[in-house]
Amino acid sequence: MEQPKIPQATAKRLPLYYRFIKNLSLSGKQRVSSAELSEAVKVDSATIRRDFSYFGALGKKGYGYNVNYLLSFFSQTLDQDDVIGVILIGVGNLGTAFLNYNFTKNNNTRIQMAFDVDTGKIGSTIADIPVYHLDELEERLTDDIKVAILTVPSHVAQSVTDRLAKTAIEGILNFTPARIDVPEHIRIHHIDLAVELQTLVYFLKHYPK
Ligand code: ATP
Repeated sequence: MEQPKIPQATAKRLPLYYRFIKNLSLSGKQRVSSAELSEAVKVDSATIRRDFSYFGALGKKGYGYNVNYLLSFFSQTLDQDDVIGVILIGVGNLGTAFLNYNFTKNNNTRIQMAFDVDTGKIGSTIADIPVYHLDELEERLTDDIKVAILTVPSHVAQSVTDRLAKTAIEGILNFTPARIDVPEHIRIHHIDLAVELQTLVYFLKHYPK
């Protein structure tokens, strides 16, 4: 099905909406108002109405949105039939936590394999995910694997990325504090947990509620 072009900021909120709508549907609810959604997902209701208008879900005043319509829209948009393969590089404390977590609530993303250079970890499996030596990266990758999660030490993040850039990988989720350069064809998202924590603490101090 042809999907409408959705602004990036809206697209980022879709998984959030989807999770909530799925739960509503499971609990047998038929409709939901933008106010209820707003309260549950902590996005203001004007934004929700604008977001939903992009995908043709027009809520009726006093009625709200049809839960089944939303559910089928989200599942078509987000649960694409083809599973997007994910790999993880760097099976340290954070990496191990991700392997155990493995995004089981998302149907179309799964970490399929992990890589490290520590011989003590290579050959093991964590939550059924095999850990291979980084030397085997290129030979293990298949075309359906598009995303790499980086949980290596910062000082090797760039060299690992340079290697990934020569494969079919299209997206990198970088959990290292390193600012990495990537070629044009790769999208990189940085998540620096230390910075996030510091920012929160700064806001608590300077903008107390
Ligand atoms: P741990 O306590 O297991 O060492 P950590 O998260 O504190 O975990 P880090 O030094 O951040 O450890 O390293 C994370 C993981 O990245 C480790 O398992 C390490 O072996 C691995 N690693 C280090 N260099 C590379 C590399 N070049 N390629 C892939 N993995 C690497």
